[in-house]
Amino acid sequence: MQLKIYNSLTAEKEIFKPILEGNVGMYVCGPTVYSNVHLGNVRTFLSFDFIYRSLTHLGYKVRYVRNITDAGHLTDDGDVNNDRFVKQTRLEKLEPMEIVQKYTVDFHKVLDMFNLLPPNIEPTATGHIVEQIELTQKLIDTGFAYESNGSVYFDVLEYNARGLNYGELSKRNIEELFANTRDLDGQGEKKNPQDFALWKKASPAHIMRWNSPWGEGFPGWHLECTAMSTKYLGETFDIHGGGMDLKFPHHECEIAQGKACNGTSPVNYWMHANMLTMNSQRMSKSTGNYILPMQLVSGENDFFEKSFHPTIVRFCFLQAHYRSVLDISNDAMLASEKGFTRLMEALKILNSIAPNDEKQSGFSLEDWKTRCYDALTDDFNSPVLIAHLFEAVKFIFALKDEKETISAKNLEDLKSTLNAFVFDVLGLQNIEENNNEKLDQTLQVLIELRNQARKSKNFDLSDQIRDKLLAEGIELKDGREGTTYVLN
Ligand code: AMP
Ligand code: ZN
Repeated sequence: MQLKIYNSLTAEKEIFKPILEGNVGMYVCGPTVYSNVHLGNVRTFLSFDFIYRSLTHLGYKVRYVRNITDAGHLTDDGDVNNDRFVKQTRLEKLEPMEIVQKYTVDFHKVLDMFNLLPPNIEPTATGHIVEQIELTQKLIDTGFAYESNGSVYFDVLEYNARGLNYGELSKRNIEELFANTRDLDGQGEKKNPQDFALWKKASPAHIMRWNSPWGEGFPGWHLECTAMSTKYLGETFDIHGGGMDLKFPHHECEIAQGKACNGTSPVNYWMHANMLTMNSQRMSKSTGNYILPMQLVSGENDFFEKSFHPTIVRFCFLQAHYRSVLDISNDAMLASEKGFTRLMEALKILNSIAPNDEKQSGFSLEDWKTRCYDALTDDFNSPVLIAHLFEAVKFIFALKDEKETISAKNLEDLKSTLNAFVFDVLGLQNIEENNNEKLDQTLQVLIELRNQARKSKNFDLSDQIRDKLLAEGIELKDGREGTTYVLN
């Protein structure tokens, strides 16, 4: 089985060859924690969670690093006075690190809700200031960067003069870039408008600041990812991911920094996840066209007619390939809910099927498994994989109607393969089973409270608990082993 990955750098699907056989180093740009993540952000992180789960399922030992951007990530217009953290601290009247903590907690909660696995390392920009200062110094020493008025900039023309190629990822040519640049960031300080900040001098209003050889300031956004990916994955590593919108300038700058610092290209496979749109418009905080994950899950929003369980949202997202644009709509969510319910029903049926080998089956389990793995290894094609899972669903319903047969060995194989794809690889959750677990926990609490009431001879209360549960169709039975319950 050969894994193929679409590499944004070469614009081709390539056979994946890890640096160290059987191991994968993967870095994904994390959130800027100055506000709540919207559903669009979730899609990108979910895409890489699926890729991480798939790699693990395929047998790779993955070191997955996803950072937290908690130091000055400038706005897209590059204006240093528009620092997102500074703005938010003023707005919320909080310390910068309070903002960071508040939205980091929110980020983790949201990703947990959608059943994303945590990365192996989650480094923060503020925890790696020393490394960023060291890299900046190295780039000055080797002539790739220059200091100007307390800030340090990467010299893009010098980089190109040395035969390196700024623009190789985004396929932009440098003359074109120069013609289209608005020089808002560091006006007059840069040699060329396309030069980007490695270190920025802090204005008096800037609260997040650190000492450096160039005075008090803060690191540039692009540099943190180079510092942390190099530290935890090495000068060259296997996979770097992020949203499509980060290709330029962020990832272009990471390549330039890596090549200038270490003389090698930092990443072998660049992977970019496509955007989530709503009403055919990109989801974004700045345009107001966005929905928060909790608003979709609670139903408190103006876009969707009902609430949806997070696992339905996850299922909906995975029905599009990570490189395709996904437009979220009420109809798409309703269709996902219907599909998900049928998938869970099939899994339930599978547990009650009796094997029977007598007749030849029209469903070849081996061929089906091959088709599933072909989809997974074809650049992590989740929609095609899901389509194949539904071939198995159809077969399971035919088994139920006794129109098909399956041997005991194949039944076990089908169960374990389908469960692995649904729960481990796609990361879906069985809502019904989870609800049953919660119900059981709640009833155990009530049984315990009733026992305590009886012990303290409060029979009025203990009888009330029993009778009220009975009225809800839950019968408590006292036996020698303790109290159990029956759902009627
Ligand atoms: P930020 O916190 O702004 O750095 O964004 C975090 C991640 O979300 C980045 O990888 C972005 O590319 C990604 N992102 C932002 N908007 C969207 C969107 N509408 N759809 C998918 N991903 C997005
Ligand atoms: Zn990054």
